[in-house]
Amino acid sequence: MAKACRVCHIIVEDNVNICPHCRVQDLSSEYTGEVFILKVEGSEIAKRMNITTPGRYALRVR
Ligand SMILES: [Zn+2]
Repeated sequence: MAKACRVCHIIVEDNVNICPHCRVQDLSSEYTGEVFILKVEGSEIAKRMNITTPGRYALRVR
């Protein structure tokens, strides 16, 4: 089971305890929705979610 960062919403593996992105220990396994951002440039979702790095992101993190 994966976890998502509460700050930037990136999805990481379950054995990861620190977000590789923001370096915070604020990860939650309770997230809904999943989106793959392959290209940040020109992506409406990336813009709306403030995503600057391609990757796998959760839409909502509790
Ligand atoms: Zn993060």
